[in-house]
Amino acid sequence: AYDHALEIHRKHLSPVAAAYFQKPLMLHQGHMEWLFDYEGNRYLDFFSGIVTVSVGHCHPKVNAVAQKQLGRLWHTSSLFFHPPIHKYAEELSALLPEPLKVIFLVNSGSEANDLAMVMARAHSKNTDIISFRGAYHGCSPYTLGLTNISTFRMEFPSGMGCQSTMCPDVFRGPWGGSHCRDSPVQTIRKCSCAPDCCQAKDQYIEQFKDTLNTSVAKSIAGFFAEPIQGVNGIVQYPKGFLKEAFELVRERGGVCVADEVQTGFGRLGSHFWGFQTHEVLPDIVTMAKGIANGFPMAAVVTTQEIAKSLARCMLHFNTFGGNPMACAIGSAVLEVIKEEKAQENSQDVGTYMLLKFAKLREEFDIVGDVRGKGLMVGIEMVQDKMSRQPLPCEEVNQIHEDCKNMGLLVGRGGTFSQTFRIVPPMCVTKPEADFAVEVFRSALIQHME
Ligand code: PMP
Repeated sequence: AYDHALEIHRKHLSPVAAAYFQKPLMLHQGHMEWLFDYEGNRYLDFFSGIVTVSVGHCHPKVNAVAQKQLGRLWHTSSLFFHPPIHKYAEELSALLPEPLKVIFLVNSGSEANDLAMVMARAHSKNTDIISFRGAYHGCSPYTLGLTNISTFRMEFPSGMGCQSTMCPDVFRGPWGGSHCRDSPVQTIRKCSCAPDCCQAKDQYIEQFKDTLNTSVAKSIAGFFAEPIQGVNGIVQYPKGFLKEAFELVRERGGVCVADEVQTGFGRLGSHFWGFQTHEVLPDIVTMAKGIANGFPMAAVVTTQEIAKSLARCMLHFNTFGGNPMACAIGSAVLEVIKEEKAQENSQDVGTYMLLKFAKLREEFDIVGDVRGKGLMVGIEMVQDKMSRQPLPCEEVNQIHEDCKNMGLLVGRGGTFSQTFRIVPPMCVTKPEADFAVEVFRSALIQHME
């Protein structure tokens, strides 16, 4: 059966989509933090699908709500009212601070950010939008201009998808950007949790100001930031940086957008939203992934004022956005997060897990950095701590593969795919965190032998 699947995959599914592992896993069942393959093996899913399964695969309560709604009404369009959308709008808006109370529902993170870009332009009447080096905001043609990770941008014929063609007014942020996968080897990004190797916040702010003053971003419409960069390998900003950056953008008439696609819904533990950990209040918040535990759903939340600016410019429509299934599931997820104290668990197990993984940094010279917050942890692999050069991809692949063979699934991130992303569902327990650390340690030992 696997060989047949492989043949169909090769013949009929686009090669542009990458798959993990030499022999990609064929999964057929999930239960909470566990996944099961066709050979009867089980895996602890410490990547939550792809940071999507917030409360657990096939969570019984979410399943029950979904099944009930399935038998009642799957779909109407946004041309009609239905109770699940109003229930959800009330519940979601209650979780956001004033004046972020107006919601537009869509189906994916890219769509949410696309719409946020349009909103920022409609409201500010400016055009330029900036994001950081290493940012990931989506893969739609519009958001590709904001996604600043070379692997997603290179080798397009005649620069299609890059800012120069599709988004001429999108500018890369103060951290620059490597536009090409085989650009000269870069040293590993300096990390935020090792003060001795961290550029001071003030230095970053000066760079940011330079960018705003000298670049196309003089007429800034919007500034997008992930509270913690996910795809880039769990990259955190210096303390206080985002707050000052927001102020500088606002002084110039731009709006600030928090992309909470990975960081929202309690994953960071201490707060429900990532922006709260930076003590900032965005003008627009985008969210997706964990919002509906893996069911396609996303949202843009903004102020009445910005929502009205958009409404004055255009009518906006989305066929599937806010459909009854998604809204019912979204409500069930919020209920489970509350009932099961998922945010508190993220804080508790996340802090525990981070400390345990951090010990590996002392044990192994190839573990360059361990960082993160709540249940969003990154382990950056290097050739050695002195050089800080990324561990070659094939070697990281082998460690990844060995973890899988021992029953642990983790994600990858970073320009060179050198960072392991440890992002389990929020129902994870401390013994499971212990298991993950032990498997990871065994894979590292195997690698050193
Ligand atoms: N923003 C962030 C921070 C993301 O991590 C992602 C997905 N990796 C997106 C936006 C795009 O989401 P989607 O794949 O649902 O379009």
